[in-house]
Amino acid sequence: MNKSVYVDNNATTAVAPEVTESMLPFFNEHWGNPSSMHAFGGNIKKHVDEAREKVAALIGAEHPSEIIFTSCGSESDNMAVRGTVDAMGGHPHIITTRVEHAAILGPCHHLEDRGYRLTTLEVDAMGNLDMDRVCAASSSGKKTVASVMWANNETGVIFPISEIAGLIKEGGGVFHTDAVQIAGKMPINVKSLPVDLLSISGHKLHAPKGIGALYIRRGTKITPHIMGGHQERGRRAGTENVPYIVGLGRACELAMERMAADAEHERRLRDRLETGILASCKGARVNGDVLNRLPNTTNISFEYVEGEAILLMLDDVGICASTGSACASGSLEPSHVLRAMDVPRSMVHGSIRFSFCRYNTEEDVDYVLEKLPPIIKRLRELSPFAQDG
Ligand code: PLP
Repeated sequence: MNKSVYVDNNATTAVAPEVTESMLPFFNEHWGNPSSMHAFGGNIKKHVDEAREKVAALIGAEHPSEIIFTSCGSESDNMAVRGTVDAMGGHPHIITTRVEHAAILGPCHHLEDRGYRLTTLEVDAMGNLDMDRVCAASSSGKKTVASVMWANNETGVIFPISEIAGLIKEGGGVFHTDAVQIAGKMPINVKSLPVDLLSISGHKLHAPKGIGALYIRRGTKITPHIMGGHQERGRRAGTENVPYIVGLGRACELAMERMAADAEHERRLRDRLETGILASCKGARVNGDVLNRLPNTTNISFEYVEGEAILLMLDDVGICASTGSACASGSLEPSHVLRAMDVPRSMVHGSIRFSFCRYNTEEDVDYVLEKLPPIIKRLRELSPFAQDG
């Protein structure tokens, strides 16, 4: 029987057993509504507050009330962009980058279609931003809302968020960062960062799917997108998802405890895999700035081979990875991130992302290194474009 190896942790992570355990009492025992006047419900509020404190601690937020719970990273991103643009009024200039997740590009393009001016910053071949362009965009003289991701989900490339946020703030703008991929993997301290808003997603850090958080610095004006009750201090209506909130709090606490050890472990596995692949697969290259990326991520292109074909063959032997490509309107579109980086045509369709977590092992890496090279060799032999098989 095939082994099963999951190296797609930037897509989603397993819920940590400690997280599941923390959540269970809130389904059948403590299932009250934290807004209730009676003690059975009201007592639940302290657990929500504790979870808020744990999320705040993970990112160094000064006041737990600066954290609001959402349903996912996408909701946090949408709320940050649309809520701040709406609250600012007067059609602010919106700034983002070409390599953002769809949860940011979607609302930005939606606003552009409604007449807002949108600047989408380019990246270079390594996936880095040109700071002169950030500077030029931020000094347009108009009120600005900028959203720039901290770490890219496909390549792991990290943007210099402190510097970018500083430029936007100097110009008087509001700054949001999508920290979905970096939260829990690397230290964050919003006390010493000029960011106004920051998004987190539970299922990227061993909490369940269906829970996220948005940090909103005190004093930042934002229009709620879900209106109704007074939950989350009137910033997001809806009865709190208590078990998931508790789970997110526990996941943040675990991430804080284990961050350095996990990062070291993931980096070691990632580097072992990367070195092994580059040594054993012809025409392989790593995409993105290898000196400036998340410790758990590698994105590797295989020349003249289709990423989807690689994935299917990996799947057949129990290996779960991913490709940035998406099957759009019958044609295989290369990843918008790799296109923005001008990855050569012969490489852009054949990219695979491997992303690790604390539960991966050296045996996982060795299994991928055993199975992948023959797959690449076979696919290259089938490719009409490869010169040398
Ligand atoms: N932002 C980034 C960078 C992501 O990688 C993802 C998910 O892949 C999201 C936002 C969306 O998060 P969620 O799946 O929780 O909606």
